[in-house]
Amino acid sequence: MSRPQNYFTELSGIPVHYARPPVAPYATRGRSYRFYCLEAFEQKLAACFEELWQVCPYGQAEVITSAGAYVNKAGYHGLGRGFDLDAIFWPDKDFITLDYPSNPVFYLGIEAIIRRHFGTVLGYLYNRAHHDHFHIDDGSSVAFSRTSKSRVLFLQSALTHVFAEPVLIDGIYGNQTSTATYKILNDIGLSGDLEDDALWSQFLLSISESAFGQALPELSPPEILRNLYTTIDTELADSESRKRIETVLNVFVDHEQTQEWLGTFE
Ligand SMILES: [Zn+2]
Repeated sequence: MSRPQNYFTELSGIPVHYARPPVAPYATRGRSYRFYCLEAFEQKLAACFEELWQVCPYGQAEVITSAGAYVNKAGYHGLGRGFDLDAIFWPDKDFITLDYPSNPVFYLGIEAIIRRHFGTVLGYLYNRAHHDHFHIDDGSSVAFSRTSKSRVLFLQSALTHVFAEPVLIDGIYGNQTSTATYKILNDIGLSGDLEDDALWSQFLLSISESAFGQALPELSPPEILRNLYTTIDTELADSESRKRIETVLNVFVDHEQTQEWLGTFE
């Protein structure tokens, strides 16, 4: 399909910028840009962000950054029905999708709202290619499916991080995930089949409200260190520099005085 005529430079009144090299570095507020997509898809995006401003404690954002909408290639980007969300900037809060490991709760609160508007949402947990953005398209319906890897990963992560009901986050809907899901649904006063559209939509809203209602955790130094190791592990999995970075970090962590200091937090 050739490029749609329709484009936007803002959504729900908020500027949408491009923040990828060479235009601007990732995780910055980026530069003004024209995002081409079908008009119906733009309206879905606008409704999604409109709801996010209402539910999120930070309210209306100042800038949204995206790695692109229409691209001349196969898939939903090529149909003018795809959007890649990199980051959202509020006056007092930067949300960068790549930072999932350091604050999964807030990330999942945002993802829950996106999932109320779009069937296909691929993020950090899905695979390495989606560590630094949410891929969003309307190629599948807004519904839960036990056989959808991305939906099950999201559910398992929400159970674990938002509701403190830890389950194995493997994308496979088994007994453990099912038991934990229905326990939490019961706890928050919802019942029915998760594959029922109305229940899924209500559960998503509960996930976002619960996530956004939690005070942002003040991490202790040992927890920050664990996050650092996790980030190196996931970000540098295939990198030659991983071993050297870990070695230097280990020298710091294993130092007698560091150990003494870390010991004070146990
Ligand atoms: Zn994409």
